[in-house]
This record gives sequence, structure tokens and C-alpha cells, in this order.
Amino acid sequence: MTRGPHGGHEGPEGVARAWADAIAGTSFVPLKPGELVACLLGHTRRLAAILHGSEFDPAQARDVGVDLVSAHFTGAETLGRTLDVLGECLPLLVDARVTPDATRRLCRTLGALAAGYAAALREATIIEQEEIGRAVLLARCEAEAKLLASEKRFRAMFTEAAIGIGIGDLDGRILEVNPALTRMFGHSAGQFTGLNVSDMVHPDDAPDVWRLYEDLVLGRRDDFRTEKRFFRADGSIIWTHLTVSLVRDEDGAPHYQVAMLEDVTERVRLQSSVEHLAYHDPLTGLPNRALFTQRLEAAFETPIQFGRIGLCLLDLDGFKRINDSLGHHVGDALLVAIAERLASCCTAQQFVARMSGDEFIFLASPSTLRQLRELAERVLAALSTPISLGAHELRVSASLGLVDREVAQTTPADLMSAADITLYRAKRDGKGHYVAFDREYTDRERARITMSATMPRAIDDGEFFLEYQPLVPLCGAAAMSGVEALLRWRHPTLGLLGPDQFVGLTEETGAIVPLGRWVLATACAQARSWRAEFGDRAPLLSVNLAPRQLEEPDLVGEVAAILADTGLDPAHLQLELTEQAVMRDEPGPIDALRALDRMGVRLVIDDFGTGYSNLSYLSRLPVHGLKLDASFLTQIRTPENTAHDDELIMSTLVSLAHGLGLTVTAEGIETRAQLVRVRSVGCDVGQGWYFARPGTPESISSELRASSSTTRDALPAEPGAAG
Ligand code: C2E
Ligand code: MG
Ligand code: MG
Repeated sequence: MTRGPHGGHEGPEGVARAWADAIAGTSFVPLKPGELVACLLGHTRRLAAILHGSEFDPAQARDVGVDLVSAHFTGAETLGRTLDVLGECLPLLVDARVTPDATRRLCRTLGALAAGYAAALREATIIEQEEIGRAVLLARCEAEAKLLASEKRFRAMFTEAAIGIGIGDLDGRILEVNPALTRMFGHSAGQFTGLNVSDMVHPDDAPDVWRLYEDLVLGRRDDFRTEKRFFRADGSIIWTHLTVSLVRDEDGAPHYQVAMLEDVTERVRLQSSVEHLAYHDPLTGLPNRALFTQRLEAAFETPIQFGRIGLCLLDLDGFKRINDSLGHHVGDALLVAIAERLASCCTAQQFVARMSGDEFIFLASPSTLRQLRELAERVLAALSTPISLGAHELRVSASLGLVDREVAQTTPADLMSAADITLYRAKRDGKGHYVAFDREYTDRERARITMSATMPRAIDDGEFFLEYQPLVPLCGAAAMSGVEALLRWRHPTLGLLGPDQFVGLTEETGAIVPLGRWVLATACAQARSWRAEFGDRAPLLSVNLAPRQLEEPDLVGEVAAILADTGLDPAHLQLELTEQAVMRDEPGPIDALRALDRMGVRLVIDDFGTGYSNLSYLSRLPVHGLKLDASFLTQIRTPENTAHDDELIMSTLVSLAHGLGLTVTAEGIETRAQLVRVRSVGCDVGQGWYFARPGTPESISSELRASSSTTRDALPAEPGAAG
């Protein structure tokens, strides 16, 4: 073997290797180097065979060119390099000597190869182009078909849709509508396209609908949804659920608007009839409490500055009697007739609702007290004519409570409670008339309501406490002969309350019974502890007893039990009773007084001189003393004041009392002048701020301790502010 020009072995393998080196990388043929050489070795052998052949047929070399192309050796430089390397190597492979014949053969062989290659390449290129062309064509057809299909789909949707669709430009001109929209509105498509969106305004449209629309056409929002009513061609109303969307162009600028409308008229109608049912009284057809409450709250939501609001609460007098005697059907018919009359009394700013049973309420907003009074007058006049119901001719009257307040100064709840209280007052003051709101009365009533509601728990919650006020002998040196227990209530919301504010109420409700029991037990326990500390110098305990307590069948037993429990001697207890409590015909209270007296308890008449005083009657009762009411002293605060009548009555009372063996206590001594007078008329004991204000048990203890070291031999100096 000889070595070839490329340093490899001579022979076909060497040529194939040289060929492979020359064309490697010129075409995109996915062959590894070894595979490439093997492929080219086959072609080399075929070419060698052509050159050697006894019958030289260069046309066979054409096939090698064709095969090279079909094997994708189609790079721009592939053929050139192939011819170069084969032109150099092939002759050596055939014969060491290069004869002219061999050269001619070589040229024709390589020429045929090149021709085959070129022809095949052209063919392949044409096919390739055709394929691309076909693919492009196919793609275009497909896209067009798709577009067509989507356009068709859109059209079908637009025409077949159950919801109405309209397309408009940005000036609001309606460009196209679908059949559903024409059916919904009763306009033809032609009539529609002559319209502008602005023709679709309904006078009751919420103002923000058109603000949303403006935002949309200006491109500030892409869509909005709302519930809106329109007029149909025949003038009737159609309610729609409306969605408007903005269509932008390629640059994002607003282009068209598309409106989609769903007919919700039925639903809205259903909803409003359900609402009507929920907000109206089925019997009279008047607005009910729920609607009234809604209107009342609405009046507070957008209050006019300094605007006033008025309520007129009305309750029929004696309606229950009519209902009970004539039957519910007559009662119902009466309510219907009355409701009609009441409704006819309202002005445009007034509105009447049925609250419950025979209670109606007028809401007036805005309102003045004058307008409210006029309304009440109209109502009373309207009810004054008898109402004929079948065989019955019924006369009704009503009580009315009027409240007129500045909106900013009140709340719906406050207003309602004021109306309730005012109506209650109208009822209590004699029916068939109206009463106007009174601040003080209402506040008092409210406090009473709060108090009676909170009273039951207050004892257990420790809200009550006692103060003690000294009772001072007016002759002799003792500083304090007794103390009066006085009840106070530290209320969680109303603050510190004095007995004048709540004792009357506790008597009405009966709460005084357990409360009085608590007072007695607490005071007795306190008195017992003073006894333990101060012995005989401990004060007599004086406790107030309400008339209602005296009626309690077991009062005596309870007093006895408390005394036993606390260990207080009955002789160290005094009970204060009012004149009204003892001046009674029933035997119960008198028997109780006798029993208490037998037990050894002292009994005195409190606030004597304010009521129906009957001293001769008193003389028959087991009473030990009188407490002269503080009002006797009001005229004689200073030495210059002369109140001869009062002084005369006082001195007469004192001598009469003494004549009956009763001690006399003067209440409400505030000044030295008063002290001098009560002393001069012969009162035995004094009580008042001049000596001491009611104070804590500790203050009494310290007073007792202090006086054990010094005896009171002079009268105390008059305190600065009478206390
Ligand atoms: P009352 O029994 O006549 O009690 C005396 C009232 O006069 C007390 O009023 C006392 O604080 C007041 N007072 C004392 N000194 C003076 C004074 O110098 N000037 C003036 N202006 N007032 C003075 P308070 O504590 O407000 O009690 C009022 C009334 O409430 C009592 O009048 C009594 O009737 C009743 N009360 C007090 N505690 C109880 C109780 O536990 N049970 C019952 N049923 N009633 C009570
Ligand atoms: Mg008293
Ligand atoms: Mg009194």
C-alpha cells in the first residue's frame, strides 16, 4: 500500500476519509464522522468502478450526485469540495500514471456527478418550495375558515341571544341592536338605530348610573353593571340588569360600547310585592312598624342642619272594650276605617304607620311643633265623627303624644322613648287629647323607668348604703342622743340618688318591702356595733318605715327577727312613721303598732304638720314622739325674721304634744337662729345641718369617740354654709 496525498492510506478508504474531511460541516447531515466515511466509501467504490469499467459509462456517476443530494449533502460548498478532492484522489486510486484517456474519463465522470447533483438539487429545492407554499396556503385557509367560523358564531350569538345586545359609538349613537333587544323594547331595529343612549334616561335613574356611563365612554373604566329601568315603545316600564362594556382599538383608545340588557321586570315586580308585604300592615294597608323604623332612621341619616323631626304617637282609648264587646271583626273594620281617616290627615311631609294593635304613629320630617299640633288637631277632629259599621255607630277617641326635636340633638331610640312617655302622660291625664313633649317630665319618667328596672338587682349588687344623721338633745350636755338612718342609692348610670328620688317609686312597685327590710337589718347591725363600742353612750337608732311596710302582715315578726339576729335591744330602736301611714281606719297597721310598742320599740310620727294632723287621734295610738317637719323653720332662718304664726303653731303643738306625753324633735335646723327658736318653744331634740349633715357610720363613730373626752358644754359655732 502506498501513502496518499492526505497522509492516509491509499485505496478507497483513504479517498473516502479525505472526502469526508473535505465536506464535513458543509451540510446539515446528522451523521457521526465514522458513519460519514462509511457512506462516502460506498460512493468512492462506485466511482472507482465507473472509472475502471471495461465499458466506460460516465452516466452512472450521475446517480452518485443524485444520491448525495438525497442524503442531504446540499450545502453551498459541498459539491465544489467534492469535485476538488475527488479530482485529486480518484486518479491515484485507479492508476499511478495519469494518461490523457484517464483524465478524460475522470472529467466526464466528475462532470456527470456534478450534473446529477445539480439536477437533483434543483428538483429538491422546487419540491421544498412547493411544500412551503402548500403549507402557507393551508395555514391561510385554516385561519380564514376559523375567522369565518368565529364571525358566524358571533353573529349567531348576537341574533339568537335571549338577552338584548346593542352596540353604540362613543357619542351614544346606537349602531346595531339584536332582535332580543327589539323584542324587549318594542322598537324595530330601525327605530333603535335612530336613537341615542341619552334618549334612554329614566327620570328616576340613580344619579350615579350616568356618572358610570361618562366614566366608561371617557375610557376611565372598562365596564359597569347596574339595575336600570327604561321606557318601552308603548310607554310601559321595563326593568333591566344592564352591563355596558367598552371596546378599545389596537392602541387602547375607546372605540365602541356594547350594552347587554337582561329583562328583570318580573323579578323586580315580585320583589316589590314581597317588599310591600313585608313593609305594610295587611289589615289596614298602612306602612307597618318595619317601614316606619326604616323611614325614621333614614330621616336621621341625612339630617338637614337645624332640621326638626316630629313624632305623634296615637293610641285609641278603650279599643279593647269595643273588641271584647262587639267582636274582633268589628274591631278590625274599625281599625281599617280609622286608618283611612288618619292617612287623610297627613300632609306631604307626614306619614302614618300602624305600630301594633290600636297604636299608630305619625312621622313628620321636617316638622315644627306648630305643624305637629295642627296634625294632632286634625286627627282629633277626624276621629270626632262617629264611624258607622253595619248596625253599629261607633264613637272613638284617641290619646296622642307629640314629640318635636332637633334631629342633631336626638336619636331614633331617644325620640321613640320620648313619644312613648308623652303618650303615657296623655293617657294618664285623661284621654281624648294630646300632650306635647316636656323635657323635665320625660327625664323624670325615664329615670323612674330605669330605676324600677334596675332596682330588683340593686340590693344584691350592693348599690344601696346608709348614712346616719345625729339627733341632738336640746337641753343637757349630750352631743348625740340618736341617729337617723337615711338611705342612698349609688346607681351605676344615674349616679348618687337620694331617697326622695326613688323611695316613692319603690312604694309603687312594692320594692320598698325587701329594701326596707335591708335598711332595718343593716342599721340594726350598725347600732349593735356602736353599742358594743360605746355602751350606754351609743345613739338610739331611728329608722324610717314606709306606709307600705306597715301594711305587710308580718312586719312585726320581721322586726323581731332582725332585732334577734343583730342582738339589738328593742328599746334602742325607734321607727319613724308618716301621718298618712298611721291615720288609717284599717285595724292591721294599728295592731302592728301596738305589737311593736309592746315589744319595746319606740314609735314617732315623721314630718308632722304636713298632712292631716289629728292630735286627739294620735293620743289613742301607741306613739312616743313627733318630728316636726322642717317647713316650720323655713321662715325663721335669721333672728330678724319673724314668723309669728309658725312660731305660735309650733309652740302650741309642742305643748299639746308634751301634754300627751310625747317628745318633740325639730327637723331641718340649719341656723343658730332656728336653734334658738325651737329651743324657746320647748322642742326636746334637734336634727339638722346646723349640728351635722348625714354621714358615714365612721363619721358617727369618730364623733362619739371625740365627745367621750370632751363634754359638749357650749353650742357649736354656726358652720359657714349652714352645713
Ligand atoms: P326624713 O325622714 O324627714 O329625713 C330627713 C331628711 O331631711 C333627710 O333627707 C335629711 O338628709 C334631710 N335633712 C336633715 N337635716 C337637714 C337640714 O338641716 N336642712 C335640710 N334642708 N334638710 C335636712 P333625705 O336623706 O333626703 O331623706 C328624705 C326622706 O326620704 C326622709 O325624710 C324619709 O322620709 C325618706 N327616707 C330616707 N331614708 C329612708 C328609708 O330608709 N326608708 C324610708 N321608707 N324612707 C326613707
Ligand atoms: Mg325620717
Ligand atoms: Mg322628716
